[in-house]
Amino acid sequence: MGDGAQGDEAQSDAAQEDTRDDAAAVIATRVCIAGGGPAGVMLGLLLARAGIDVVVLEKHADFFRDFRGDTVHPSTLNLIDQLGLRAAFDAIPHTPLPKLDVVVNGVRVHAIDFSSLPRPNRQVTLMPQWDLLDLLAAEASTSPHFDLRMGVEVVDVLRRPGDGRVVGALARAADGSTLRVEADLTVAADGRDSTVRRSLGLPAQQYGVPVDVAWFRLDRPPQGVPDTLGYLGASAILITIPRPEYLQCGLLIEKGSFETLRREGLAAFRARVASASPRLAQVAEGLTDWSQIKLLAVQLDRLESWSVPGALCIGDAAHAMSPVFGVGINYAVQDAVATANRLIPVLGAGGMPRAIDAAARAVQRRRERPTALMQRMQRGVHRVLGTGAGLRVLHNPPTAVERAVLRVLLPVIRPVAARLVGYGFRPERLRVVARPARR
Ligand SMILES: Cc1cc2nc3c(=O)[nH]c(=O)nc-3n(C[C@H](O)[C@H](O)[C@H](O)COP(=O)(O)OP(=O)(O)OC[C@H]3O[C@@H](n4cnc5c(N)ncnc54)[C@H](O)[C@@H]3O)c2cc1C
Repeated sequence: MGDGAQGDEAQSDAAQEDTRDDAAAVIATRVCIAGGGPAGVMLGLLLARAGIDVVVLEKHADFFRDFRGDTVHPSTLNLIDQLGLRAAFDAIPHTPLPKLDVVVNGVRVHAIDFSSLPRPNRQVTLMPQWDLLDLLAAEASTSPHFDLRMGVEVVDVLRRPGDGRVVGALARAADGSTLRVEADLTVAADGRDSTVRRSLGLPAQQYGVPVDVAWFRLDRPPQGVPDTLGYLGASAILITIPRPEYLQCGLLIEKGSFETLRREGLAAFRARVASASPRLAQVAEGLTDWSQIKLLAVQLDRLESWSVPGALCIGDAAHAMSPVFGVGINYAVQDAVATANRLIPVLGAGGMPRAIDAAARAVQRRRERPTALMQRMQRGVHRVLGTGAGLRVLHNPPTAVERAVLRVLLPVIRPVAARLVGYGFRPERLRVVARPARR
């Protein structure tokens, strides 16, 4: 795995001069957020609730996208409680998972048990992410301070002539019109391929990842299967996220091998799925066309500096997370809370540029270490996946020694894993829970 410091793409042409477009509509706000994912929508909601004008720009016309993870973690559930959104959350169909199993070489292991966490949120909840984002956006939209523009793509940052301070974002709507959003702070929450981060020219530490994910749906088997996070087979690893109507599946494949898989044909692909989980062999027959299978590239990186004067990166835009442990959404939301905790007092007190920049740097100081620790663990798992050694940890049936080791280790691992997956390192709590101002 090649861990090497590497610069992001070259700074944009607009780096040193203001990006003028006389035909562009202009909006002035306090905070402009690029990206309406978990980080962007949550931060927008928290700022708007605190009475701070915020514009969120999301390039897609809706939140309905398959590739998003669906996990709502105990830390996010705690936040939903803190925000008084529990009843609205509970009204949306979702699946609470108090325990998570993995199946290793055909042996079911109860690996994580959230019942060891403090009440009331002792489970990971599976809810389609578009439903969660719709809920947060709907709640935020009740505030006169929240302005969400869907179908508007940020294409560059705006810079002040002279000192180059970031003073907003330049965006393009689906109809081709342009929009200048002028803001005291621009937040990049536009994910792992962040346009804003590229425009800022921030160098990132890139970590090699040996796997990609082939993403597809399977019908739920008629005979039923217990809720299972994943199957680690002798020659394939399959993630299975139970959604109410179907299983959202991800088959881990060697990085860059998707075209080879396609050439091998669908029958071979179905056989791989079945080798990870023979119980899914029958429903895997439903994969009859490559259009049902999408390639999701896995990426792991972290910016050296998360901010420049006038701009801050959070979530995957600051640190692309691997799907390992399913914590990326949690980390994105935690970044949003940490940002709100530091920005709200500063912006509420007038928001001098120097104070805003200091708050942005404080976000990195707060969130960098927990992120680096989690990424180090994800890299450890990647290394194991890369060698295939992880698949040989258990015999089927387990030997007497393996059973003894499991008996001793699992009670220790379960609560630790529950905290790690449920909260991550250094969970955040909202400092000020502002009452929502209604339109
Ligand atoms: C295959 C795979 C599976 C995963 N599964 C899980 C899981 O189960 N659980 C989990 O916790 N994490 C999972 N992750 C990680 C998780 O998806 C991310 O860490 C998390 O989504 C980061 O949230 P974010 O808000 O920072 O960015 P994103 O969720 O990527 O959101 C960014 C948003 O910005 C928008 N956008 C992008 N560019 C622009 C632009 N120029 N202008 C305007 N808008 C823009 C995008 O449309 C998107 O809505 C997975 C990752 C991968 C690769």
